[in-house]
Amino acid sequence: MKVGIVGAGMVGSAAGYALALTGAASRIVLVDRSEALALAQAQDIAHAVPFASAVAVEAGGYEALAGADVVILAAGVGQKPGESRLALLERNAAVFEDVIAAVLRATPDPILLVATNPVDVMTHVTAKLAGLAPGRVFGSGTILDTARFRSLVAHHLGIAPHSIHGYVLGEHGDSEVLGWSGARVGSEPLASVAAQLGCAITADVRARIDDGVRRAAYRIIEGKGATNYGIGAGLARIVQAIGRDEGAVMSLSLVTPEVAGVQNVALSLPRVVGAGGLRSTLMPTLDADEIAALAASARMLRDTSDALGL
Ligand code: ADP
Repeated sequence: MKVGIVGAGMVGSAAGYALALTGAASRIVLVDRSEALALAQAQDIAHAVPFASAVAVEAGGYEALAGADVVILAAGVGQKPGESRLALLERNAAVFEDVIAAVLRATPDPILLVATNPVDVMTHVTAKLAGLAPGRVFGSGTILDTARFRSLVAHHLGIAPHSIHGYVLGEHGDSEVLGWSGARVGSEPLASVAAQLGCAITADVRARIDDGVRRAAYRIIEGKGATNYGIGAGLARIVQAIGRDEGAVMSLSLVTPEVAGVQNVALSLPRVVGAGGLRSTLMPTLDADEIAALAASARMLRDTSDALGL
């Protein structure tokens, strides 16, 4: 499978590296406004190939994306001192106008996987600009938040994260919603397993895990200035699920007709991922507090989309 990556910065290059290590793509093309950066990243990743899978890694202009099955969008501009979130969003949306047009000239019907933050609104921007079939434009959303949630619950119980089934929903950001009430371990409700193991999910444990999920990015950025490895691996995992037509369930951001009473909003819910992109949504069981929190998250995202005229 040929995978293009537009934006060869921290996130784009980490995605390229993870794709090379996992062999989820057979060909990777990096494109960046800075040709020198794209070339340097492509060479560096290519030098890992003899230790990993047989993957062709190159840099190029947009024309090099011809025939790409999936294009990861990781291009973006950083926040200027004193710049509001909305002003930053408007600048990133303007960058995407050029980027999406150039991508679609090279490869007319790709799957577009949005990673640029704020990922939910950028997913909405991309869906509107690209006009591709629903399910072919989606964002990495809360895939990483869900991974953090599963890992922290797993650690508390002493059980593998793979056996923890629970999702983080809504915005990838401050208003995200941890789906505690529907979380299961194996086939059993989380609370029942926690009681059996003598590791009750007390209010303190819940607060600690919530904070660990919600504040993870802030802590990592404080320490190293960016987050890239986790999201890079998540993006490669999504591409793998597409390439193998897996039907894997992942929390990903998609423009959704209606969520918790809010219409036409891009946010994360568990989605089924396969060859054509996202093929369905699995609405999780939520309690009243979680529904209210999801409605608030959706409303906030809808308001931002309104401000951008989406
Ligand atoms: P992140 O941490 O989100 O990856 P970076 O700043 O490291 O952020 O990477 C963003 C990348 O996007 C930069 O390499 C930048 O050159 C690139 N970029 C910005 N605007 C464009 C554009 N119009 N076309 C292609 N790449 C772009």
